[in-house]
Amino acid sequence: MDQKGNLIGNNPFMTIQPKTIRPKSADEKCCRICLSEEEPGNPIISPCDCTGSVKFIHLECIREWLESKKHKKETPFVNSYIWRGLECEICKAAYNDQATLSNGKVVSLLKYDIHQDAEKYMVIESVTNSSSKTVHVVNFSAKSEIKVGRGSQCEVRITDVSVSRHHSTFEVIQIKNKIGEMKSYLSVCDEMSKFGTLLFVRKPIPVKKGKKVFL
Ligand SMILES: [Zn+2]
Ligand SMILES: [Zn+2]
Repeated sequence: MDQKGNLIGNNPFMTIQPKTIRPKSADEKCCRICLSEEEPGNPIISPCDCTGSVKFIHLECIREWLESKKHKKETPFVNSYIWRGLECEICKAAYNDQATLSNGKVVSLLKYDIHQDAEKYMVIESVTNSSSKTVHVVNFSAKSEIKVGRGSQCEVRITDVSVSRHHSTFEVIQIKNKIGEMKSYLSVCDEMSKFGTLLFVRKPIPVKKGKKVFL
């Protein structure tokens, strides 16, 4: 027995277990939204320019927070999603739409739906300098020809002064290849728009006179 009258020693029923408070090590990551640690299937990432303990956030916690910023308009042909205020509320850094995990895997932070009947679909993004992002998911299985422009008749509406009312048309076309198989191609046709429809070419493509060029 000790001075306070508590039994100590070898008595297995009366051993006193002092409650230890485990100090948090410097590398222990805690999510700044839910204040809990990393868990299986829900890694902790640092998606902005914040430093110190506030830089850590669960992948699912930031996805949920970004969901609250999302506005959507869904039709059988096109699902349009816009996220406004896509920036860290503390450091004001714009959030990227993807994050790289510690194992090198790249995951998307933004959630959008692809039509269930879509065998052929396309995801396009409006590139802006502000902290908002617009994504259009085009369902070519429901409609093979999609109009893009500022006007209300367009399935993909881009409300920007640089975009004409009917700017361009995207269409899935079937063309026979060299061995006679039908292959699907995406045709992008400019509709006499004011500023033109440009395609970004990532690598040099040889152009021959009188020959069609496929990108
Ligand atoms: Zn969390
Ligand atoms: Zn931040």
